[in-house]
Amino acid sequence: MCKQVVLSGIRPSGGLHIGNLLGAVNNMVALMESGKYRCYFFIADLHAGTTAPDFKRIRMNTYSLLAEMLAIGLDPGRCTLFRQSDVPELYQLYTFFCYVTSVSELQRNPVYKEQLNQLKLNGNGLSIFLNYPVLQAADICLYRANLIPVGQDQIPHIELTREIAKRFNAFSENSLFPIPEALLTETPKVPGTDGKKMSKSYGNFIAVADSEKVTKSKIASMVTDINRPRLRDKGHPDDCPVFTLHQFISPSEDVSVIRSQCEEALIGCKNDCKPALAEAINLALKEPRAKRAELMNHPDRLDAVLMKGVAEARKVAKETIEKVRKTLNLSI
Ligand code: SF4
Repeated sequence: MCKQVVLSGIRPSGGLHIGNLLGAVNNMVALMESGKYRCYFFIADLHAGTTAPDFKRIRMNTYSLLAEMLAIGLDPGRCTLFRQSDVPELYQLYTFFCYVTSVSELQRNPVYKEQLNQLKLNGNGLSIFLNYPVLQAADICLYRANLIPVGQDQIPHIELTREIAKRFNAFSENSLFPIPEALLTETPKVPGTDGKKMSKSYGNFIAVADSEKVTKSKIASMVTDINRPRLRDKGHPDDCPVFTLHQFISPSEDVSVIRSQCEEALIGCKNDCKPALAEAINLALKEPRAKRAELMNHPDRLDAVLMKGVAEARKVAKETIEKVRKTLNLSI
């Protein structure tokens, strides 16, 4: 029986941080390791350019992101790992999809409206920013993907992809595209150093690329339980971002001990709890960091991964485009 195709991309907009690992990347590794799916994972460099098309910087970020994805456990022997822009068939499918998508439905997209406000573009966004869901639909349909791991907020984009796939399928007696479904993934709320959600845009993250020393100093600066101003005050671990990170990273036995010692005011934030967290993070990231550094010193190995990935991706992409062109009477 054919395996279902899973497709997921990550924007190369800076290095991976702990929040990315605990959410998207660990999920990708789990999907790959389940052996249940044919996985296509891509570095979404074209998506990264939809708000700021600085492709020189995006290219540099692509290499560090790829090194980190490999260091965390994605295996190019068990999934197809490629760079989005390396597949020329994508541009063709995107163009064809623009013929069946109206401007008004793109403008109605709630994700677009929200980002427009957040980024304060005031109507000056690039047309690709508006068209981004069409590009995403082309990503999905090009590899005839069945399942797309997304959070709840991305559902409108999957809905549009389903709509576009149906419109295209109506051109042909044989279905061109499977109708993809969202594979809803719980995105854990990982706090950053300021207690808000860990995010590159808030500058409150702990990155895979950070040194042990930088990690320690970032953790040392973290906010804690605001109702525990003095060492002798009993703490409330459930209101403390440091404790939340412990729950994600530290062994469960240690987490129980920290909870009870915090609640009884037997440990301090600065000298006990935070150093223990920094140590746990540095331990968890020790191997990935070493592997990342090794790969960054060998860009030829990263190029080899990208070349293997694009060859696999284009094999399917070419088949899809051939079928689409025939359907549209565009074949020679
Ligand atoms: S001891 Fe740890 S869990 Fe308790 S308030 Fe301090 S940093 Fe937070």
